[in-house]
Amino acid sequence: MHKTIAFIGAGNMASAIFGGMIDGGYPADAIIATSPDDTMLAPLRERYGIRTQTDNATAVSDADVVVLAVKPQIMRQVCEPLRDAVQDRKPLIVSVAAGLEAATLEGWLGGELAVIRCMPNTPSLVGAGASGLYANPRVNAEQRDLAAELLSAVGLVEWVDDEPLLNAVTAVSGSGPAYFFLFFEAMEEAGVNLGLPRETARRLALQTGFGAASMALKSEHDPAQLKRNVMSPQGATERAIQHFEDAELRQIVEGAMQACAARAQEMA
Ligand code: NAD
Repeated sequence: MHKTIAFIGAGNMASAIFGGMIDGGYPADAIIATSPDDTMLAPLRERYGIRTQTDNATAVSDADVVVLAVKPQIMRQVCEPLRDAVQDRKPLIVSVAAGLEAATLEGWLGGELAVIRCMPNTPSLVGAGASGLYANPRVNAEQRDLAAELLSAVGLVEWVDDEPLLNAVTAVSGSGPAYFFLFFEAMEEAGVNLGLPRETARRLALQTGFGAASMALKSEHDPAQLKRNVMSPQGATERAIQHFEDAELRQIVEGAMQACAARAQEMA
């Protein structure tokens, strides 16, 4: 029997996850999604064949897993009215909300619950996400497997053992897409300055990023070796890499990611 999963909040992240699960064969009738606004839910019923609810507590009363997928700012007002339903049934709680600690969510939901916090990223919306997951001590092995199945529907899943490490996950993969977008912007601009049409420079830069990541994921070599493989002595790539090293790109990346993790910690 498949576990019943209730998504509280049926926005971008929730629909990416349940859409991916259904594509992967999870039965649509084991999924319930909620929103206060039925006009948002009707297209989801139509497209995915899932069950929907405008009342969160009713959805929770039938669920083995509750995925909290509303914006962090409204999480408290969404959680507190669910206390009775959650404490009755003690479902696994999975939160995809940035910055809210497991203990805070547990408190808002009345205490003593198995809670998994997940830090996904925006490429999850196209099935190429990377998520860091933390399970509090009340989560059992079966629940961990289920959460990994859920999040692997939108990409890679990595577990961390300590909750504060989710700040490091934020610095690597949570915010990471923006670093690459910045790099793509800069490559596009430099390509234009070298004489390429903008669209050509953009497509070449994006495909190169995609190709490099695909190759590195499949390769038995680490990125340092793959980089050396592209560089021939005295060649053009070597000249470019030397320029990055002289400009201390590594220290810039270190500083940016330390700043990101520190800010994520402040916001938790
Ligand atoms: P979204 O605005 O697309 O979805 C939020 C949904 O919550 C909306 O569909 C809205 O109808 C619904 N909602 C509002 N009030 C509600 C209520 N009282 N009860 C039930 N549902 C209610 O937002 P999103 O981008 O899907 O983000 C959802 C969560 O995912 C956030 O906590 C965010 O931090 C996290 N997240 C998103 C991304 C991303 O790439 N979009 C990445 C990392 C984390």
